[in-house]
Amino acid sequence: MSGRDFEADDFPHGTLEGYARGCRGTHCEATGMTCSETQRRYQGDWQFRRALDAERAAAAKARRNRTITPADEQTITEMAHAGKNNADIAKVLGFTPGAIGSRRRALGLPSIPRGRPRKTKEAP
Ligand SMILES: [Zn+2]
Repeated sequence: MSGRDFEADDFPHGTLEGYARGCRGTHCEATGMTCSETQRRYQGDWQFRRALDAERAAAAKARRNRTITPADEQTITEMAHAGKNNADIAKVLGFTPGAIGSRRRALGLPSIPRGRPRKTKEAP
């Protein structure tokens, strides 16, 4: 990773994600705690860790529970035509595979089964 990535406006400075993505030093642009301070406190302060984990879990739940927009439907259609299964699409868009599957059926897109093909009378 180059230093340029840290200067991007959407880089998550002051978070564990920022630290995990490589922000370690003095160039951190966080206004409060720097990425490495956040990481150090997360490792050593149980209450801080618990609060941060709760915050991150709530954010992840909000991302999963958002509604599927027309732009998301476009992505689902494109990925379905590219042969991706519900789990792959769900990972990219941040929804559950079940939510992708039901929208996929509503859009009339063919489903792609996971795993090995089932045995049939035609192809035992
Ligand atoms: Zn940083």
